[in-house]
Amino acid sequence: LLRIENLQKSYGDEEVLHDISFEMEESDAFVLIGPSGSGKSTLLRCVNRLTEPDGGDIYLDGTRTSDPEYDVNHLRREVGMVFQDINLFAHLTALENITLGLKKVAGMDESSAEARARAELEQVGLADQADSYPAELSGGQQQRVGIARALAMDPKLMLFDEPTSSLDPELTGEVVEVMRQLAEEGMTMLVVTHEMGFARSAATQMLFLEDGSLVEQGPPEQLFDAPEEERTGQFLKRIT
Ligand code: ATP
Ligand code: MG
Repeated sequence: LLRIENLQKSYGDEEVLHDISFEMEESDAFVLIGPSGSGKSTLLRCVNRLTEPDGGDIYLDGTRTSDPEYDVNHLRREVGMVFQDINLFAHLTALENITLGLKKVAGMDESSAEARARAELEQVGLADQADSYPAELSGGQQQRVGIARALAMDPKLMLFDEPTSSLDPELTGEVVEVMRQLAEEGMTMLVVTHEMGFARSAATQMLFLEDGSLVEQGPPEQLFDAPEEERTGQFLKRIT
């Protein structure tokens, strides 16, 4: 579903992604780990072209989305993204935060947009908060609205960049639970997270990135229990 070939990105003289290649099948849940500054966010941002790669190719469902001619707006509908910062519109209710994009970007009429938005709120366990404003919701609930908003576009792939990092510890569980459920339902997802419980139980593969290079890729059992690279083991020991 997603194929990345020799992806390369530099900022000025500094190359922050070197020749990254990997492939995801439909329903894969990949967890990307690595030290701060290793290039995790840059990699995710290249996939939906919030950042333009300097080299290499990205294919989604066989289409080369890294082609400069490829419509970025179309790409952003096919690839949903949830960030660390929760960026809901404060003056719109949970429901309206979701219907806005459905009407403006996907061209849905009001009633279909509302029906879709309610279904997505239900999916993240917030059916009863449709009319709440962000300020009336906890951080965890706000992040779940953000996930529902991304899912409403019916993406082929979901990107998560540390979705629980800005939350109080007691609120991370509900967001992780939503992600776990999505993975179980077969959503294809590429997740940057420090939630190693999620990685161990939900990841089909893990990727360890260090200094912009893909050091190791394998199933969670390999990275946690028998890493092939010493650096992988050292990093995981530090964070777990
Ligand atoms: P963290 O765990 O702290 O989120 P990360 O693995 O997501 O880190 P990136 O944010 O991808 O790392 O950054 C990779 C490297 O690229 C870092 O050295 C960073 O300083 C640099 N970088 C990222 N964005 C920019 C930018 N817009 N301009 C210049 N340098 C940047
Ligand atoms: Mg980051």
